[in-house]
Amino acid sequence: MHLTYHTIELELKHPFRISRSVTEVKKNVIVNIEEGIGEAAPSQYYGESAETVIECLERVKDQLGDDPFQIEFILSSIDKKIAGNFSAKAAIDMALYDLMGKKLNIPVYKLLGLDGKVPLVTSYTIGIDTPERMKEKTKEAKDFLIYKVKVGVKDDIEMVKAVREVTDAKIRVDANAGWNAEEASRKIDQLEEYGIEFVEQPIDPKDKLGLRKIKERSEIPIIIDEQLMTSKDIPEFVGLCDGINIKLAKCGGILEALRMIHVARAHGLKVMLGCMVESSVGIAAAAQLGSLVDFLDLDGNLLIDNDPYEGLKLNKGKLFLSDSPGLGVVPKDQ
Ligand code: MG
Repeated sequence: MHLTYHTIELELKHPFRISRSVTEVKKNVIVNIEEGIGEAAPSQYYGESAETVIECLERVKDQLGDDPFQIEFILSSIDKKIAGNFSAKAAIDMALYDLMGKKLNIPVYKLLGLDGKVPLVTSYTIGIDTPERMKEKTKEAKDFLIYKVKVGVKDDIEMVKAVREVTDAKIRVDANAGWNAEEASRKIDQLEEYGIEFVEQPIDPKDKLGLRKIKERSEIPIIIDEQLMTSKDIPEFVGLCDGINIKLAKCGGILEALRMIHVARAHGLKVMLGCMVESSVGIAAAAQLGSLVDFLDLDGNLLIDNDPYEGLKLNKGKLFLSDSPGLGVVPKDQ
């Protein structure tokens, strides 16, 4: 199978600020394997960039064989050869699934034995800003049923309060490890009055003792995201959280995400499906698994101004998968 790739530059509608970084333009890599398409959404935090993705693709592109239905074998061979580089691997995985769906003339969710018709209610992320501007951003996105408010900085309780003042919708918060353990317990107590659905990544994932204390104390469920990459990482967080956030760009694609969902369930954990800033290609790939999870945070394509692809429909905060074969995405000008 022939693999080609090109980079895309996704422009954020608003500078996207989280506790450790701010993004204005996100450089991703689109991968085509025959007529299959996938997307790498590399994150510097995990040691990846468009350049490392391309290096990885160059190393494996001549070793894909000729049968996408050998996906287990293809991806495990790549894993043996190359460690990490999960967003690059995810792009290959997505393109293989898209190709399989197109060959069988069915959507990927059907190929996976999943329901593609359930309403996929996604949260919409409000990046860190002044409380006033966060109010404005929430009002701008008033059709959403859930907001995810980025916290993990000084005065963040004021920000959540500001968002709560302009909406009755569900609010989740994500500190992106911006708090320490003592601060997290205090802030989680303060957040209770704002009706928070869950707290994502309150502290450094390496602080296991801190996480255990927070979970024991917190009335609000705790979700782990940072540094929890693949199914192998799940057991060490059992007892330290209520659920995990799976992202295709962190785990290496749909195949590993499925494995993670099963491992998480076996440990009694809730499952959230998240994303990076990415186009409709990466979001449509993740959304195929939507019926299997408890919480969806698939708004990466909604945060950008120049999505080059389309395929998913959004209506009043709910995503609807396309019935077209594969991932159901096409370039916008087609
Ligand atoms: Mg997160």
